[in-house]
Amino acid sequence: MNLNNPRALLSNYPAIKSWLIFLVVVWLFSLIGLGWLVKLSLILLGLVLITPLALFLGLQWWLKRSLVQEECPVCSFELVGLNNRQLQCPSCGENLQVSDRHFHRLTPPGTIDVQAVEVSAQVVDD
Ligand SMILES: [Zn+2]
Repeated sequence: MNLNNPRALLSNYPAIKSWLIFLVVVWLFSLIGLGWLVKLSLILLGLVLITPLALFLGLQWWLKRSLVQEECPVCSFELVGLNNRQLQCPSCGENLQVSDRHFHRLTPPGTIDVQAVEVSAQVVDD
């Protein structure tokens, strides 16, 4: 490869060639007073490149904030749900409410939750 020959350099690096063409076109446009067109197209190109990235980062941030992963309070099945939404446990079918990043049972008002505790019987001889 001969580095002194600009033609050989351009044919070996097509990316340099396209950037040079781009710069020449920008320079010509600004010479004939169409610099605003170049600026507008650069702004549009920037928006096209930045918008998907911003959307991706925003979606990632929203998912991190909204997704709750916890065990079902009834059957201890590992669940994933969105914060402040209702869902049904796929394992036991219980309706659950997600609030404050925790799963809660959806019960009608006045329902009292009790937990059964097994007590071993002891025979006391007198
Ligand atoms: Zn469950």
